[in-house]
Amino acid sequence: MSARDPIADLRRIAFLLERANEATYRVRAFRSAATALAGLPAAELAERAANGTLTELAGVGDVTARCVAESLAGEEPVYLRRLVATEGSDLDAEAAALRTALRGDCHTHSDWSDGGSPIEEMALAAVELGHEYLVLTDHSPRLTVARGLTAERLRRQLDHVAQVNAALPEGFRILTGIEVDILADGSLDQDDDLLARLDVVVGSVHSGLKDERAKMTRRMLTAVANPHLDILGHCTGRMVSSRPAGVTGPGDRGHRARTRAESDFDADAVFAACAEHDTAVEINSRPERQDPPKRLIRRALEAGCDFAINTDAHAPGQLDWQRFGCERAVRCGVPVDRVVNTWPVERLLTWAADRS
Ligand SMILES: [Zn+2]
Ligand SMILES: [Zn+2]
Repeated sequence: MSARDPIADLRRIAFLLERANEATYRVRAFRSAATALAGLPAAELAERAANGTLTELAGVGDVTARCVAESLAGEEPVYLRRLVATEGSDLDAEAAALRTALRGDCHTHSDWSDGGSPIEEMALAAVELGHEYLVLTDHSPRLTVARGLTAERLRRQLDHVAQVNAALPEGFRILTGIEVDILADGSLDQDDDLLARLDVVVGSVHSGLKDERAKMTRRMLTAVANPHLDILGHCTGRMVSSRPAGVTGPGDRGHRARTRAESDFDADAVFAACAEHDTAVEINSRPERQDPPKRLIRRALEAGCDFAINTDAHAPGQLDWQRFGCERAVRCGVPVDRVVNTWPVERLLTWAADRS
């Protein structure tokens, strides 16, 4: 009998690869193998590992088969051991305390839009990270390149989330949400009745990022004043190319960030409006975004804004990127109680509901 669970080892490898921002195809090999093997009776799994026929199964290759064999033999797979050995550096005490205080993540994507994994897998990874909740925020209709959800598909997703929630461990739940596009005139790209029904609404600019200053400011002010909008997502739209400290990995593949300048808008006016309307400013943790930049986090703090430290994860392993947002928040002196995802979930829900 093996003391290890080979499926869990495959998922752990996928998680660590995602966290290290490795290329999607490398991660997919481990996730597909885990899915293919999860349905197999234990006896057949052992037999196939013993006689070398695991690779006859669709989705299982040489590398994943070797991991399974090692795992069944009771050893930590070599591939996993190597990844664990190159894990990211530790956070300093203050950033670690903020990370520990976070109860959930308010900005995540699934394969319903442009994420790489099913809702269930995102949720299970969030459970393992110790989260109490995960807000699922797939894209809105106008963002067709990201397979944005029509009103019809979003309604179906809400039914699906209710089913998934019923099967998840007690003490954890998926909250409903959306990353809704802020359109050219500042309106939000989804039906009002649906926005009202969702637990948390993140609103982001994804188009016309080069709008001239006055137009972009008007656009954002209109969105921030919309009572449905709870969190202003990655407000400058910038893309930085540097690989931040703590992201380790064998190569730069899968990290093809193009750089993009910040959108031009009157940040003081927008942050003042966020404070007035009780709209939280997102600190987006994605390594290629790091949005807003620290000088703007400081200005939002001075303006009296609350924050949400989110990963904008498109894969389970990326859910661990909150550490990067925590580091930046701490550098800017953001107090724990100004971060909405440190609040008890009921307080978060009341805050979001009161706004709409
Ligand atoms: Zn976005
Ligand atoms: Zn997003």
